[in-house]
Amino acid sequence: MTNPPLIDSFGRVHDNLRISVTDRCNIRCFYCMPEEGVEYMERSGILSFEEIERFVRVAARLGVTKIRITGGEPLVRRDLPVLIEKLLSVPGIKDLALTTNAVLLAAQAKPLYDAGLRRINVHLDTLDRARFLQITRREELDSVLAGIDECLRLGYGPIKINAVAVKDLTDADIVPLARYGRERGIEIRYIEFMPLDGQRLWGRSRVLTQDDMMAMLTREIGPLEEIPGRDPSAPASEYRFLDGVGTLGFIASVSKPFCMNCNRIRLTSDGKLRYCLFAIEETDVKGLLRGGGSDEEIGAVIRENLWKKWAGHQIGTPQFVAPPRPMNAIGG
Ligand code: SAM
Ligand code: SF4
Repeated sequence: MTNPPLIDSFGRVHDNLRISVTDRCNIRCFYCMPEEGVEYMERSGILSFEEIERFVRVAARLGVTKIRITGGEPLVRRDLPVLIEKLLSVPGIKDLALTTNAVLLAAQAKPLYDAGLRRINVHLDTLDRARFLQITRREELDSVLAGIDECLRLGYGPIKINAVAVKDLTDADIVPLARYGRERGIEIRYIEFMPLDGQRLWGRSRVLTQDDMMAMLTREIGPLEEIPGRDPSAPASEYRFLDGVGTLGFIASVSKPFCMNCNRIRLTSDGKLRYCLFAIEETDVKGLLRGGGSDEEIGAVIRENLWKKWAGHQIGTPQFVAPPRPMNAIGG
C-alpha cells in the first residue's frame, strides 16, 4: 500500500528534506554566529549516521525524494562521505546536495565525489579579501576558492554559489561574483539577508533586495531575462544574461517571500523536526530514534509536525518573532 503524500494543512506537498549534521563551524559569519562564546551541542546529543539514515528511510517512504546536507559546517563532521553513500542508497532518494562554506572542500571534494555526491552549493559572499575577513572573521578566502576549483576539476555539477547580500556591506560584491560565475559556468544565487543572526543585527534597511541587485547587474553587465518553466517550489527565481553567458538565482525571502510554494522540512543535528527555517516550535524525533520507536511512530511524528506548519514567516511585520536558535543550530 502506498503512503499518502506528506501534506500540510494548506495542501502543500513536501518532498524535500534538509538535514543538519552539526551545529559546529570553522568560520564565524556575522549574520549566523557570534564571534566568540559559541556554545555547541554535546556530541552525544547529535544524531549518528545510522539514526539519520533510519529517519531518511522513513521520510522517503512518506514521499521525500530530495535531500540537502547542511549545518553548521557539514564538512567538519567526520566521515561525511560515509553518510552520503548511505543516503544515496535509500530507495526513493533521487537527489542529494550539500551546502558548505568550502573551507575544507579542497581536501574532501574527491572522497565526497567518490561517495556519489554531484550537487554542491558553496557559500561565498565576496571575492574581496578584506571583506571576507570582515564577514567571516577568518582568513579562509584562498581555501574556499581552492575548494571550488577542485570541484570544477573533478566534474561536479551543478556547482552553485550562495552569496548572502547585505546592504552597505556586500553591494560592491554583487557584480564581481556574477562575473566570476560567468567565467566558470557557476550559478551565483544571491540570498537576501534574513533575521537569523545570533546577535539580532538584522534590520529591513540592511536587506539588499533582488530588485536592487538586478538593477546593478543589468547596468554593469547587461540585460537579464527570467528562465521560463522553473519549478514553483524552488526557492530561487532564476535569470540568464541575454548574451547567453551565465545564470543567476535570487532567493528573495524578504522582498518576495515564496512560503506558499514551500516543500521543505528540516531535521536538526540534535534530532528536532522543524517545518520552517523560522519555526518557533520543534518536534523531537531523537527520543523515538533512540528509544525503540517504530517506523510508524516516526512517520506519525513527521506528519504531526508538518500539519502545524504555518502559512509563512512574517519577516518585516510586527508579528515576526525570530527563531530561538541561531542559523548554525537550525541548519540553513
Ligand atoms: N556552513 C554552510 C554554509 O555556510 O553554506 C551551511 C550552513 S549555512 C547556515 C547555510 C546557508 O545559510 C549559507 O549558505 C548562507 O548563505 C545562509 N545564511 C546564513 N545566515 C543567513 C542569514 N542571516 N541570512 C540569509 N542567509 C543566511
Ligand atoms: Fe558557518 Fe555557514 Fe553559519 Fe557561515 S553561514 S557561520 S559558514 S554555518
